[in-house]
Amino acid sequence: MPKFASFTVIPSIPERLAPLEELAKNIMWSWHHSIIELFRRLDRDLWDEVDHNPVRLLGVVSQERFDQLTQNDSFLNHLDRVVEMYNSYMYGPTWFQKNFAEAYPDMRIAYFSMEYGLTECLRIYSGGLGVLSGDHLKSASDLGLPLVGVGLLYQEGYFQQYLNADGWQQETYPQNDFYTFPVTQILDEDGESLKIDVHILDRTVYARIWKIQVGRIPLFMLDTNIPENNREDQDITDKLYGGDTEMRIKQEIMLGIGGTRALHAMGIKPTVCHMNEGHSAFQVLERNRLSMFNEGVSYKVAAQANGGGNVFTTHTPVPAGFDIFHPDQIYRYFQDYANELGISVDFILRLGRGPGDQSNSGLNMAILAATNSPLINGVSKLHSKTSRKIFRKAFGTIPEDEIFITPITNGVHYRSWISLEMEQLFDRYLGSRWREQPEDQSIWERVYKIPDEELWRTHERRRERLIAMTRNALYKQLMKRGSSQHDLDIAGEVLSPDALTIGFARRFATYKRANLFLLVTDRIMKLLSNKNQPIQFIFAGKAHPHDDAGKEFIRQIVHFARDQNIRRQIVFLEDYNISLARYLVQGVDVWLNTPQRPLEASGTSGMKVVPNGGLNLSTLDGWWDEGYDRDVGWSIGSGEEYTDKSYQDRVESGALYNLLEYEIIPRFYNRGQDGLPRQWISMMKHSIARLGPVFNTHRMVMEYFERFYLKAHQRITFLIEDNFKNAIELGDWKHAVKDNWDSLEILNVIAENTDNIRVGEKLQIRAEIDFGNLDPEDINVEVYYGSLDSNNDILGGATMPMNLVSKVSQNVGVYEIHLPCTISGRIGYIVRVIPDTARTTVKHEMLLIKWADMAD
Ligand SMILES: *Cc1c(COP(=O)(O)O)cnc(C)c1O
Repeated sequence: MPKFASFTVIPSIPERLAPLEELAKNIMWSWHHSIIELFRRLDRDLWDEVDHNPVRLLGVVSQERFDQLTQNDSFLNHLDRVVEMYNSYMYGPTWFQKNFAEAYPDMRIAYFSMEYGLTECLRIYSGGLGVLSGDHLKSASDLGLPLVGVGLLYQEGYFQQYLNADGWQQETYPQNDFYTFPVTQILDEDGESLKIDVHILDRTVYARIWKIQVGRIPLFMLDTNIPENNREDQDITDKLYGGDTEMRIKQEIMLGIGGTRALHAMGIKPTVCHMNEGHSAFQVLERNRLSMFNEGVSYKVAAQANGGGNVFTTHTPVPAGFDIFHPDQIYRYFQDYANELGISVDFILRLGRGPGDQSNSGLNMAILAATNSPLINGVSKLHSKTSRKIFRKAFGTIPEDEIFITPITNGVHYRSWISLEMEQLFDRYLGSRWREQPEDQSIWERVYKIPDEELWRTHERRRERLIAMTRNALYKQLMKRGSSQHDLDIAGEVLSPDALTIGFARRFATYKRANLFLLVTDRIMKLLSNKNQPIQFIFAGKAHPHDDAGKEFIRQIVHFARDQNIRRQIVFLEDYNISLARYLVQGVDVWLNTPQRPLEASGTSGMKVVPNGGLNLSTLDGWWDEGYDRDVGWSIGSGEEYTDKSYQDRVESGALYNLLEYEIIPRFYNRGQDGLPRQWISMMKHSIARLGPVFNTHRMVMEYFERFYLKAHQRITFLIEDNFKNAIELGDWKHAVKDNWDSLEILNVIAENTDNIRVGEKLQIRAEIDFGNLDPEDINVEVYYGSLDSNNDILGGATMPMNLVSKVSQNVGVYEIHLPCTISGRIGYIVRVIPDTARTTVKHEMLLIKWADMAD
């Protein structure tokens, strides 16, 4: 091919309509119906044709149409209202400004994620992780946090899905042309693209930086597809989750190291770095490198300081889900980098294994992140518990219950997921504050004031829209597949706008068991063939390109749906994406989810139906384990975990059929004189009122802010003040404590009258501690106690501090506690010593515990 010169053509928009350009470039339209409506008014058909991408829309709308609109008062009014709203959103006071900006003027949070699900036209996400990142940024914008996002701008992104005639998934990778997207390039002072570079193997790889404006939040995205790079390196930012481990490590180097360099190049100095999943954990190393070279401190001091400002969210419920790089691979990619940092590759490998692990295993990105951030969370209560189990090895002898992985349960950004109709209904009955403060329970209580009839009609309108969209989409996908006229005719008749509609859409990972409802054909056929109380299913979802078992699930569903008798009641829609997801969660009556507990870390799609009045039917896993009660939805089973998976499938499919047959279908069709399903509507209201205030990203981001970001910011600010004085002191102290830990001894433990203590009495416990080479100020002595189980293990232990009451000698102190005995039964206790907790962010940060020998 010859080389082409290029130039860029931009639309010429009349002066009066000029604000449209800025509106198009800020994807805050994706959660403001009034802005979307404005774009749709430009040209409704074109809006759909351009994949809901307003930048492209402005490029294809005709000059004539623009001229017409400059004469259209109603449109101009709408535009002016939107501009006013836009300005007050962008520049008005926010939660952060009102409450924290003054106290924390230097606070900057960098949020790293491998994928972002923001809006349908930006195909740079694969599933739940990406949508969560997107919703996180949107709520951070609403709350006004000083946060920036960091990611990769994939030329092809995640694949588009279509099915062949046999129902087998096919993948295509359309190219994104960023010049027609709501993204802008970051330029340097000379107006050239700003570039950063990263050393990868023997090459220098360059990346330019794009920005996606998400309301108030800038999201910076790296792109290696530039002529300075060779072909292979250009492809680093081609596909999301596309390549092998070589590709993966390059992408993660680009995200963690490149992303950190990009922020630095733009003069952004984050105090808090939030790693959303372990993919970005190399930022830990790069952050330290920057401190070394800019502040002149050693690696150790840099790590001590920056470690205080890191935050890590883990999303994986199984060890197989971690990214692990073979030691040889780390040697190949990190030898030069380690030299530059003055550390060894072995040292980096050890950071990625955890102190408890002496093996020669590879570098685990999640452990690299975890060992360098004291603030770690799982994404639901159940998942935190699971995480403490699977990270256990990396945390030394810390009891599992005390491992510092705490839950911050996921949420969704309601305004991105709620239908226009439901939004208007809430505005009328709840007031507009539900938009800004969805975490406020008292607002959602007002749902009970909405007349049943109105809530139901609103919901039914959205069900009708869903059915219409489904017929349309099915028709298109059958056309593409070259189906017969007969099949095309049926597409126009599938599903009924009045029937109980059950949705299932998500990644087709096998643990989610999309085909569970098919397990016993007789039972599902019986339910489907009842014409008096009809039910129907809509499915959608992509299997990972390498996951043949997931693709087989799709094929099974498609084949099942070919049966003449039920083909109007089961539809599989191709190419699940955010737009399709919105239609589904806004229109279904029931949202079905069947993960194998505990493999669904949180799950978020079920939360999206909540503000839309849909009801959840799910196994008790992830968020549903904490959200479920019988007034708000249904649980398949009661949280059992099985080792025999096929037995589990039989039990749980049985439970699913029973719920459908005896509870869900009858309740849906139990209509009063007025045709309303009053009991059903009452459940809808309970679901909105009780789950509404909890499972949203405002609540979630506020939790991250109050529990993690503030702490991390204060911590790192303290550590780096006076040229890292406190980091140096802390490092020296930690070092001394670690080196001398073995010199510490618990000499003896004496408890008085342990026989027949009554509830309400106190037990006196004393212990003599030989400080060895340490001082009393270096340690905390405490008693760890709790009810004993049949194995003589403590269940859910608690601790109380013991006080130094006297000294036997210079080196030996007596500690004492009067332990209140509040419950009856057999109580176990043990005395232990840990390093002084006042000096660290979290209690067990140093992973050191000295346990007393209580045997005698
Ligand atoms: C919300 C969402 C997901 C996540 O669904 P889960 O049920 O939580 O796995 C995946 N894909 C899209 C397009 C979504 O909108």
